[in-house]
Amino acid sequence: MAAQTVEQLIQEGVRGRRVLVRSDLNVPLDDSGRSRRVTDDGRIRASLPVLQKLSDAGARVIVMAHLGRPKGEPDPQFSLRPAAERLAELAPFEVEQADDTVGASARSKAENLAEGGVLILENVRFDARETSKDEAERGSFADELARLTESAGGAQGAYVDDAFGAVHRKHASVYDIAYRLPAYQGDLVRTELDVLDTLTSTPERPYVVVLGGSKVSDKLAVIDNLMGQADYLLIGGGMVFTFLAALGHDVGSSLLEQDQIDTVKRYLDSATRTECEFVLPTDIVVASKFAADAEHEVAAADSLEQSSFGSSAVGLDIGPASAKDFADHILSARTVFWNGPMGVFEFEAFAGGTRTVAEALTGTKGFTVVGGGDSAAAVRSLGFDDSQFGHISTGGGASLEYLEGKELPGLTALGK
Ligand code: ADP
Ligand code: MG
Repeated sequence: MAAQTVEQLIQEGVRGRRVLVRSDLNVPLDDSGRSRRVTDDGRIRASLPVLQKLSDAGARVIVMAHLGRPKGEPDPQFSLRPAAERLAELAPFEVEQADDTVGASARSKAENLAEGGVLILENVRFDARETSKDEAERGSFADELARLTESAGGAQGAYVDDAFGAVHRKHASVYDIAYRLPAYQGDLVRTELDVLDTLTSTPERPYVVVLGGSKVSDKLAVIDNLMGQADYLLIGGGMVFTFLAALGHDVGSSLLEQDQIDTVKRYLDSATRTECEFVLPTDIVVASKFAADAEHEVAAADSLEQSSFGSSAVGLDIGPASAKDFADHILSARTVFWNGPMGVFEFEAFAGGTRTVAEALTGTKGFTVVGGGDSAAAVRSLGFDDSQFGHISTGGGASLEYLEGKELPGLTALGK
């Protein structure tokens, strides 16, 4: 059964009804100053349209979201407040904030919420039941969340899942809640699925996938599936070193997942028998240590230890020749999916590979999709605009798991 949409909910009539919306407001924050500041508000901007539609239709909107990984109890360091404040600045509707998730503040603010008003609950992960493995515990939190939608007049509440970035989590605000209220698929989830379905079913060729970032083992899982779909797999970022090690090269002190080397060997081996080709960097920017101001130079990818830094060499970016090679592949592609920065782009000296790849994506005639929280943040911090890409996915892990062909609890619960 296809999931019901927000349009259908609005057609049913939502004026006065309390609608719980699961949004993805998990944005990067800069904690260095006195007050925490949102450094990339992409996810907040992306969350606005659904909230606005519901507000315009007269719903009383209650937003659930998480931020970071607090330990199941209130922790000011993970308060959603900075995100909620940014949302309030951008929103054309009234925004209120609760001091808790299902406590006295949330209950009274939900009860007093005006038609068209939007209330943002505190970080749902302030309650340990949100992420509990125990069904009953999660269920009791979901019950309390659902109760926020009750109204004296008896109007029925509803649930909208607009947090694509969280659909791979079996959490109370994503999964259990959908079994307690009439559930609808938010526009963001819909758009993401449309794009990802295009990638998995009918990509125009050549289809180039660019993978990087730091979560090597997370991302290796997706390669298996992508090998059967993509024409070229370009590998950069931290995972490169597990590939180089699998080829028998010394990677100095670079990021390396020893226990994944055999898996990578298997991939490289089976790629020679499939239509898919791995493209690995031939040069690497190595540094004396992991630091913004570290001494650095370009080394051949097969002999990092022969750089000036010997065995302490850390690879922090793909080299300029590799970046150019990656860009050429991207420029002649008809479909590009990119997940994971090519290097430690947060340090200017190691942002070159990521910048060249991003530029190529903006220059190619092909359809381009950028997935991953840090990848999206990277293109924005390097000065690119969202409109220069075909689609910037708000979900990192979720899009990868979808591409892996896994079943995602949040979608199952919506009856996708
Ligand atoms: P995304 O959020 O886009 O899925 P990840 O979270 O997997 O991406 O990875 C992003 C991080 O990867 C960035 O913070 C970046 O600094 C880091 N990174 C990229 N290349 C390297 C490298 N060679 N060594 C260590 N970290 C790296
Ligand atoms: Mg990340």
